[in-house]
Amino acid sequence: MDCLDGSPGQLRNFQKDDFEADWIKVAECKFGQVYQVKLKLLREKCALKSFGKTLCDNQRYRKIIDEASNIAKLKFKYIMPIYGLCSEATAVVMEYMSNGSLNNLLASHTLMWPKKFQMIHEASMGMNFLHSTKPPLLHLNLKTSNILVDDHLHVKISDFGLVSWEEGMTMKSFLKHLTERGNISYIPPETFTQCTDPPGTAFDVYSFGIVIWEVLTQQKPHAGCSVTTVLIQVSQKKRPSMEMIPEQKPTECDQMISIMKQCWDQDPHKRPPFSDTVRKTETLSDVMKIPGPMQCHKNGNVGQKSDYPWQITLPEIPDLPPADQHGKDDILSLLSKKDF
Ligand code: ATP
Ligand code: MG
Repeated sequence: MDCLDGSPGQLRNFQKDDFEADWIKVAECKFGQVYQVKLKLLREKCALKSFGKTLCDNQRYRKIIDEASNIAKLKFKYIMPIYGLCSEATAVVMEYMSNGSLNNLLASHTLMWPKKFQMIHEASMGMNFLHSTKPPLLHLNLKTSNILVDDHLHVKISDFGLVSWEEGMTMKSFLKHLTERGNISYIPPETFTQCTDPPGTAFDVYSFGIVIWEVLTQQKPHAGCSVTTVLIQVSQKKRPSMEMIPEQKPTECDQMISIMKQCWDQDPHKRPPFSDTVRKTETLSDVMKIPGPMQCHKNGNVGQKSDYPWQITLPEIPDLPPADQHGKDDILSLLSKKDF
């Protein structure tokens, strides 16, 4: 283990040998793999995101290193901590989030409304932090697979700084770069036009609007549509359907829907900054909080009925032990699994 710039506390460059031998593959995608690894010395589980040498030329990894060195200095509760790099594996090493991505959680478990509102608010906190830096740190790859869930079902924004607008890039090449990552649903319409301006904060705000829709509906936006269809529909101001939002919903959901619609406005100038959104999501999330563990229900088993069908309380769930005393299954078992 050494430090890239030679001084302690700076970005570390881990050797493959710094990790226990058993690397558990968590995900494989076009641009590389994610492994769960364990640091021998620190006894800590980490996630190692490898960019794969074949797909990732030296220049690209060099850029990632430069970005990682900068972003590793950023510390905030709702953004993913970067521990260092592993140049040998062309990889970034970061905190391991035991409940994986929000994308997977939304597909596998039913979330109760207060938990949905809390997750939206926490994601908005993370984004507000990134945009509050000077100059604003644009994510440009915000999607539910880049919102990761910890063992207490709190979320952190991940993989920021990996996609960037480069000098001399055309909008066409930028768009190609984004769609290659399978991000078409999160790309704002102005990116599809002849516009030559580099993306700004409104780009991420649009993506956040789509994230809100996904959390509220637990569905995939533009499911089954080709890239071209999405491109045409979004350019024509079409957005994911409101009909997918469950009928049984708290009254506060209307305000959340209104935030979502502002975020995905066709006109980037009309999209609100995260500094505004975060205040609104804070209020909504606070209103939805009620005492006791009511964010989720177990295996479709409805506990004590409340006045509202979307609020289900579980009177007999004991207080959870601290994070290090319970595993992933403990907290996930409090959510009801989706039926397939
Ligand atoms: P992109 O490269 O555009 O970010 P992606 O988010 O779909 O695409 P990865 O970032 O490689 O792909 O992540 C793939 C999956 O790996 C995530 O959906 C998540 O399940 C898992 N993963 C990524 N980072 C972590 C982490 N720090 N802790 C736990 N699981 C992770
Ligand atoms: Mg990712």
